[in-house]
Amino acid sequence: MSSALGITLPEEIVALQEGIEAFVKKEVISRHEKHHALLSDPRKKFTEDGRYAPEVVALIREIRMASAEAGYFNMITPESLGGAEMGSLAYYAAWERIFHTCGAHNWLCVYAISHWAFGPSPVLTKVTDRARDEILEDMMAGKTSMCFGLSEPGAGSDAAMLKTRAKPEGGGWLISGRKIWTTNSPQAEYCIVFAITNPEKATNKQGGISAFLVPTNSPGFQIESIVKMHGEIGGDESAIVLDNVRVEPWQLVGELDRGFDIALYGVSLGRVYNSARAVGTARWGLDIGFDYAAKREAFGKTISEYQGVTFPLAESATEIHAAHLLGINSCMLLDQGKLAIKELSMCKAYSVQVGVRAIDQVIQTHGAMGFTNEMGLMDAYHALRVINVADGTNEILYKTIVQRMLKGDMDL
Ligand SMILES: Cc1cc2nc3c(=O)[nH]c(=O)nc-3n(C[C@H](O)[C@H](O)[C@H](O)COP(=O)(O)OP(=O)(O)OC[C@H]3O[C@@H](n4cnc5c(N)ncnc54)[C@H](O)[C@@H]3O)c2cc1C
Repeated sequence: MSSALGITLPEEIVALQEGIEAFVKKEVISRHEKHHALLSDPRKKFTEDGRYAPEVVALIREIRMASAEAGYFNMITPESLGGAEMGSLAYYAAWERIFHTCGAHNWLCVYAISHWAFGPSPVLTKVTDRARDEILEDMMAGKTSMCFGLSEPGAGSDAAMLKTRAKPEGGGWLISGRKIWTTNSPQAEYCIVFAITNPEKATNKQGGISAFLVPTNSPGFQIESIVKMHGEIGGDESAIVLDNVRVEPWQLVGELDRGFDIALYGVSLGRVYNSARAVGTARWGLDIGFDYAAKREAFGKTISEYQGVTFPLAESATEIHAAHLLGINSCMLLDQGKLAIKELSMCKAYSVQVGVRAIDQVIQTHGAMGFTNEMGLMDAYHALRVINVADGTNEILYKTIVQRMLKGDMDL
């Protein structure tokens, strides 16, 4: 990592960062350069209905498979599933380096290692033996992927408001309902679908929600539409309709009525990922910002001579350094077997806010240049603004922090 850190990272994590940086340069950045026309032109990147074009899906798959081949893809996957189980600090350090190296232009970097919701992750320790036999080998090889269907049109932060229902039928269940915002769903082979299995328990917030592994080609599973996020003519999130989708007992993930345990299993990794994404992307932005300020001239001097330009950058650099320390500390706690609920909530809420602020300062430093597609700063702004909502909004994270502190967890 950098000399700004007072702690020494374990040798294997330093080696991992160097290795992953070389990997993304070789396998991700080179593909962006080679396929620039496809990846940077929304009319080529997406099909008419808003999905990634088949050539883009093929590139995503190629990167996942190259990463599996190079030994990075399954770094977070538990050893019991055949992964490297390197732990949260390694996951944080790897993602931070990936985003710092790739910036906003090389967006395929999000496939450089397995994302907890799309590929092999600790969540898969909860699937049945039969499901593991059917899906694990191809998913670990990067050939297939999955998505995480929790949110619904009427259930976001308050996931207990789910309406999707799994009704018992002939020894299995029939699932009906709707999902929305499900990332990676347009091309995923599987979806982990959350559905009510016991309405009474669900109403009383005593469980009653179960998770199921559903192949996305199951009869009744339909991508109704692609959600087009700001400025895009397509997207990676979709609205899904489930119409009497049949699932068997082998498709149950974890225990019946205890689906939220599965969601919580992945959510900390999602928070680690997003915190690292914010810090890595902001560092990429600050590198550009300081460089530009040192070169751009106005009124007979470089703009780095003006404190109005540099002090906001210094402020952001300080905040990003603090976020980086929060990330490392939270992950060290997780690796010690602690839940670190308060610390990780602080880390994610803080990192994504200071991350988006840093990119905003860098845009301002660039004047009109800051808004060009060429710079990619607006893409970075968008990517970091969105993660102020995804994987737990800032407000829900503050709510969690308050709950912990009111219960007496006052350690800071
Ligand atoms: C890019 C992106 C990708 C996503 N991918 C997935 C995915 O793959 N799978 C999936 O299941 N979901 C996904 N989501 C959905 C995401 O989990 C939800 O957006 C998130 O949980 C918030 O829910 P909501 O958008 O419905 O907002 P709401 O819950 O409706 O909240 C609206 C506002 O009210 C605030 N609020 C709500 N309750 C409280 C409270 N008690 N106290 C204070 N403020 C409160 C929120 O913080 C927010 O500001 C994704 C979202 C985005 C943006």
